[in-house]
Amino acid sequence: MKFELEESNRGILDEELLEDMRRSAKALGRETITIAEYEERGKAHPSTIQRRFGSWTKALKLAGLQPSRSKIGITDDELFENIKTLWISLGRQPRYDEVKAPSSKFSAGTYEKRFGSWSKALGRFVAWVNSDSPDQPQQNVEEEQSAAGSTVQIASAKRSTRREISDRQRFRILVRDGFRCKSCGASPLMKPGVELHVDHILPWSKGGETADDNLETKCKQCNLGKGNAFNA
Ligand SMILES: [Zn+2]
Repeated sequence: MKFELEESNRGILDEELLEDMRRSAKALGRETITIAEYEERGKAHPSTIQRRFGSWTKALKLAGLQPSRSKIGITDDELFENIKTLWISLGRQPRYDEVKAPSSKFSAGTYEKRFGSWSKALGRFVAWVNSDSPDQPQQNVEEEQSAAGSTVQIASAKRSTRREISDRQRFRILVRDGFRCKSCGASPLMKPGVELHVDHILPWSKGGETADDNLETKCKQCNLGKGNAFNA
């Protein structure tokens, strides 16, 4: 269904081409469209549009679409998730010049554009990490009661947190504990392959809350070794 801009097609108005770009972008639910995407969905051939308007970017602009897809449709959450991943891989706060491929999915420039500066982005990130407060009550109490058998009495006490540790809370604890096992000090930053877990100090099944002060970082070995200290 493509039509090329041959002699016979010169009558197609600029506006028709631009409208077709808008239509195609809209069909994708976006404010922009790539050449490859348009080639699949558009009525005209992308090269027709490029020739007519000088470049794809110029055509996007004339159509009132966004200049490129890369910075569109990225949510703040995705940007923050990327900082979290970067932070974990470095074991510390990423520096401006470290925010680049391949370790970072987004460039420092993307953060500057969104938040004004890298340090502002970090400020927003910290707020994002801390905004995940453990305030969803009592969701797993029933399950826990049936699974925990004899501990039903204790577990049925009112809970102010749910059992699950969120990603952001896990991150907070890792940062607080310096990405080290609280028992033996092992850290993946010193020794690749060390696996860190964030777990309850007083187990949730024993009434321990999923609160920062009842969570700690342990390496996999120590975490498994901790065994049943509380179940003895
Ligand atoms: Zn350990």
